[in-house]
Amino acid sequence: MPTRPPASARPSNALTSAALRQQVWAANVGLPRAGLVTMHSGNASGIDRARRQILIKPSGVDYDRLRPQELVTVDLDGRVRAGKMKPSVDLPHHLYIYRHCPEVGGIIHTHSNYATAFALLGQPIPAYLTAIADEFGGEIPCLPYLDNIGDHIGEAIVAALHAAAAQGRTPPPALLLGHHGAFAFGPTPKAAFKAAVMLEDVAKTCHLALTLGSPEALPAAEVKKWHDRYRFGYGQTRPGRSAALAGLRLGLGGKQAAMGGAREVAKLARRVKGAGRS
Ligand SMILES: [Zn+2]
Repeated sequence: MPTRPPASARPSNALTSAALRQQVWAANVGLPRAGLVTMHSGNASGIDRARRQILIKPSGVDYDRLRPQELVTVDLDGRVRAGKMKPSVDLPHHLYIYRHCPEVGGIIHTHSNYATAFALLGQPIPAYLTAIADEFGGEIPCLPYLDNIGDHIGEAIVAALHAAAAQGRTPPPALLLGHHGAFAFGPTPKAAFKAAVMLEDVAKTCHLALTLGSPEALPAAEVKKWHDRYRFGYGQTRPGRSAALAGLRLGLGGKQAAMGGAREVAKLARRVKGAGRS
């Protein structure tokens, strides 16, 4: 069994192996408790960057029966390194995001009802609320419908995060997938879980407001004011290290980066649309 690398070899947001396993397990079993999943429709993972391994939920296992030691250990090429069960079928999307976003330490995927209602309509959630400005730093994007073949979902998510960064905003810690659900990210699995919970909470409030009237998004300057205070002044964490991916670095390849995030999203959308007709 490999030994744990020295603390100095681990990135600043790295967890010990035991803490990572605990957080990934807690995020998974927390999904039904937070009302974010029905039956098995969601999963959580976390990465040990020093060992280049991720821990992810096994496929089709009841959350209330999941034990921490049953999480599946997979390397960044998708090979199972430990665990007796098959990993989540969403593993390729998790892997792609980890490979291309070095600051992501945890990922959550759900079909949570209120967020997915917006996703079904292909509607992003504008920054209607101060809570959206705080946690998400702006509109919560909605990607076009994507099939689950290869890296289509991972590519589109990474491109959307890059597009947000190219626009000068903090990459949102969650986004919507058209006709599908939501992905949330964070420096740790715990932070990703918080983003998934907050996404569903603001989606519910916005849904209720939209049944009552026509809300308007906050002005961009107000969004920035709230988001900056949240990033740098909220809670007991170090400045700038809130649950959001404040300093997300996007390890995009040369071609992808050169194209620019927004154009990449548009290209992916066209490709997916075309593929859907064939
Ligand atoms: Zn799904």
